[in-house]
Amino acid sequence: MAHVLIIGAGGVGRVVVHKCAQNSDIFDKITLASRTLSKCERYRDEVKERYDVDIDIAAVDADSVEDLVRLIEKVKPDMVLNIALPYQDLTIMEACLQTGVHYLDTANYEHPDTAKFEYKEQWAYNDRYREKGIMALLGSGFDPGVTNVFCAYAQKHYFDEIHTIDILDCNAGDHGYPFATNFNPEINLREVSAKGRYWQKDEKGEGKWIETEPMAIKMVWDYPQIGPKDSYLLYHEEMESLVKHIKGLKRIRFFMTFGESYLTHMQCLENVGMLGIEPVEHEGCKIVPIQFLKTLLPDPATLGPRTKGKTNIGIVAEGIKDGKKRKIYIYNVCDHEETYKETLSQAVSYTTGVPAMIGAKLMMESKWMRPGVYNMEQFDPDPFMEELNRQGLPWHVEEL
Ligand code: NDP
Repeated sequence: MAHVLIIGAGGVGRVVVHKCAQNSDIFDKITLASRTLSKCERYRDEVKERYDVDIDIAAVDADSVEDLVRLIEKVKPDMVLNIALPYQDLTIMEACLQTGVHYLDTANYEHPDTAKFEYKEQWAYNDRYREKGIMALLGSGFDPGVTNVFCAYAQKHYFDEIHTIDILDCNAGDHGYPFATNFNPEINLREVSAKGRYWQKDEKGEGKWIETEPMAIKMVWDYPQIGPKDSYLLYHEEMESLVKHIKGLKRIRFFMTFGESYLTHMQCLENVGMLGIEPVEHEGCKIVPIQFLKTLLPDPATLGPRTKGKTNIGIVAEGIKDGKKRKIYIYNVCDHEETYKETLSQAVSYTTGVPAMIGAKLMMESKWMRPGVYNMEQFDPDPFMEELNRQGLPWHVEEL
């Protein structure tokens, strides 16, 4: 039995609250806290109506360590699930350290003023978490998250050595708007408008990051249950930990699908400066263009009832087993309308929120529990893979 404090009542937070309430045999007490209390109230009422589960709510400013420590000391949870934004990772990790409470998140720390993410600052907590006897699980969403677990599962059951990995992320959902993002627009647009990057070993066997212009590398991949889609190479955070933990790796890349309309809108917004993260002066007040754009765009949490179609996210791994070459594809297909029926959320929030709940469940059941700071592939993938099948994200393995 566990008491969890969920921070962030956004699109993903909603799914986490629903899934924790569905698993109330493990999560016997749930507290949801966010900046805006009215969002917490809404989700509290939903959960009561659907599952007859009572949850507590609170307002918190997760940018303030003091505020967080005060809340954690009052609520006394066994762990904190950080489902706010990547900007809050370090303050929440710090508050967990000060109060001796386990931590989990779904996205890598990002500084609001630099559109760049890396694990360095979160990994730097490892010794202090270990000394305090608490654990942090980093990136327990889908990608990062399930994709890391797929890689660990491939390594454990299918290969002696994995040489190449392609992570393939397709969202073929249609929400009917000319332009909208499926999760926080600011985080999403910062990610996809950044330069691409992949990792490869050179002839001397040294691993190097190779940078590309945004969207410069494109391939067409035939996604099962969806069909062929243009897929573009991006940098994505799970590659940073996977290059450390997957044996024999020679190359890893990440591809995401984008439709022509999305790319044209994004290019246009970028050309006129709407993706800028530096404040600009407008009639006497300072505004950050990308934050203003977020205000204009549809709230991802409202896309659920209008989104139709499927997502397919997976990995293709190539390597050697018993001296022979092998190539496998592990993926999950998720249907936007089905996830809406279950949790009032579209599939991008669902595919992130379900793994966050599973990560917390495995920690609270002591199946994944070790003091220190960890990425997903550092644990036994089997219990996580079993939970995916049970909790609404069944997966397939194909030999290619
Ligand atoms: P939303 O913008 O919908 O929700 C974020 C929530 O965090 C909002 O409710 C917001 O509160 C709250 N919040 C923001 N700042 C603060 C603060 N200072 N104090 C307290 N609460 C705060 O985002 P999503 O739900 O779409 O995304 C949530 C997280 O999931 C993000 O970190 C995102 O990067 C990650 N993600 C991970 C994926 C994966 O596969 N690993 C995929 C998709 C998302 P308020 O509404 O009051 O402003």
